[in-house]
Amino acid sequence: MWSPGDLLLLRYRGYRGELVGARPLRVVEDAGPYVACWLAAGTEIMDPALPDGRAPRLGTVDEWFAGPLGTRRRPWTGVGILKLVPRQGAHTVWLFHEADGTFLGWYVNLEAPHRWTARGPDTTDLLLDVWVAPDRTWSWKDAGELDAAVALGAVSEAERDGAYREAERVLVALADPAALPFADRWTTWRPDPAWTPLALPEDWDAA
Ligand code: MG
Repeated sequence: MWSPGDLLLLRYRGYRGELVGARPLRVVEDAGPYVACWLAAGTEIMDPALPDGRAPRLGTVDEWFAGPLGTRRRPWTGVGILKLVPRQGAHTVWLFHEADGTFLGWYVNLEAPHRWTARGPDTTDLLLDVWVAPDRTWSWKDAGELDAAVALGAVSEAERDGAYREAERVLVALADPAALPFADRWTTWRPDPAWTPLALPEDWDAA
């Protein structure tokens, strides 16, 4: 059971199993099948990096998927994001808003099946995403990146198939405007303006 104000650490492993990413999130509400969390702008996060420090996406697919990845610590820039983290699952759902609060849509990030520790889930980004517009129409995103990762052996064909199955399972909930993760009530939720960005725990990569 998570309580409002708890720090939930969402961590990402690279394609060789090394820990390369972390997001300290403030728990908003333990909402049953999902824990609703807030990633405030300015929060200190850890992201994967190429050996020269660039973001993996800026390198070649070989550099991204076949080579070793390091880390880079940086502040989360842009607007804050409401993240819905399933208690059991292989995805997270990110709700994007304009600075004035206008809801822009849901981003379903497909991930390896979550392995929970007392701090939160550990997973690996499986590249494939689904963008769901406010009118609940949806589209695939970055399927080509996933194909490239499979071609280079970073992601297995079974993991790719699992990502598509997970997406299709999650999208079933679109039919019900009260059902998580696409429940209407979270699209209008706004954080307490007094909340300050979280710092990344020094032991973010400890077991
Ligand atoms: Mg993704």
